[in-house]
Amino acid sequence: MYLNIENIRKDFPILTQEVYGKPLVYLDNAATTQKPLCVIRKIEEVYTTINANIHRGVHYLSQRATESHEEARRTVQDYIHAASPGEIIFTRGATEAINLVAGSFCRSQCKPGDEIILTTMEHHANIVPWQIQRDITGIEIKVVPITETGEIRPEDVEELISSRTRLISVAHVSNVLGTVNPVESIIRLGHSYNIPVLIDAAQSVQHLPIDVQALDCDFLAFSSHKMYGPAGIGVLYGKEAWLDRLPPYQGGGEMIAHVSFEKTAFNELPFKFEAGTPDYAGSTALGEAIRYLGSLGLENIRRYEEQLLHYATDKLLQMDNIQILGASPQKGPVISFLVKNIHPYDMGMLLDRLGIAVRTGHHCAQPLMDAFGIEGTLRASFAFYNTEAEIDALVAGIGKVSGMF
Ligand code: PLP
Repeated sequence: MYLNIENIRKDFPILTQEVYGKPLVYLDNAATTQKPLCVIRKIEEVYTTINANIHRGVHYLSQRATESHEEARRTVQDYIHAASPGEIIFTRGATEAINLVAGSFCRSQCKPGDEIILTTMEHHANIVPWQIQRDITGIEIKVVPITETGEIRPEDVEELISSRTRLISVAHVSNVLGTVNPVESIIRLGHSYNIPVLIDAAQSVQHLPIDVQALDCDFLAFSSHKMYGPAGIGVLYGKEAWLDRLPPYQGGGEMIAHVSFEKTAFNELPFKFEAGTPDYAGSTALGEAIRYLGSLGLENIRRYEEQLLHYATDKLLQMDNIQILGASPQKGPVISFLVKNIHPYDMGMLLDRLGIAVRTGHHCAQPLMDAFGIEGTLRASFAFYNTEAEIDALVAGIGKVSGMF
């Protein structure tokens, strides 16, 4: 054991509650993570001590709030090893970050018939923004198939590359299968054809160390709420050269240098992409969440979560009525599974009555469900505050509910 889980759980008061008279077992961390007290208190601290609109005021509070927001940007920069703070754009989340790239990139870099490559295992957040652009700019979407084990093969990506390919956008870790995709190879491959690559890191940034300069990705998107920070804020990383080339995504205050009715000059990076008053309390609290992760150590987190994943996989496979989807040797702590003859929704509802929170449904990945020929699954996803005892509770719960059918 590398982490003191008992102590860590004291940082998450929500985990101590009972639901329906049973101790809460929270296994829906891929949907959102719980927040440590330091993050919750940080939001309160911003609003009780430094609240003011940022970047605009000469007064003390505005300067303090601005410093807090910009310090958070540098904390994010350090966390993902970006070259400069100007490459960190605050958005509402991974979804908005991908919409930003899709909108600005397709508008400025694509002609009708140009192609974007996605994969079968993308979250809707990395599908629908491109479809909207398809309707506006006439781009085409090519889709990389997955293997039986739920993996992406770089050679299948290469197969789809043509002289019309403008961008490849791929999840780092699948929110359904847990598969860790070979993004290093895909980025190298893309660049060998001069094609930029966007990484959807919504399911990786909380589990794996990320170095955007070593990865050499052109864009990377993620959400604060899946990494123990508040909801409503997220990040787009973009290489400066790309962000300089792309037009603004939204217009408004903050993103301008000068406005007249004839012409507007846009602000420098990163402000060009941050129209309107940003969530400065959210950014500050995200910075606090990153410091909290740093205090535990990402490598410790990765090892412990891997232990939970293996423990849960073994226990579930010992049951004779469970089928797990996705068998990649490289997985994040996510297990999607089916229980023979029991609809995932029924199982999820009855597990909930036992205090066990798992996800049921298509997990915003309907094309992936179609590829497996199913409508949905159950999904258990783990965080460093989960325990083997909670996995035992899940397994016992599945056994109990199965016995009722
Ligand atoms: N991408 C992946 C892989 C996800 O799992 C999610 C959320 O589940 C998203 C994108 C969208 O994140 P958000 O809803 O926080 O914008």
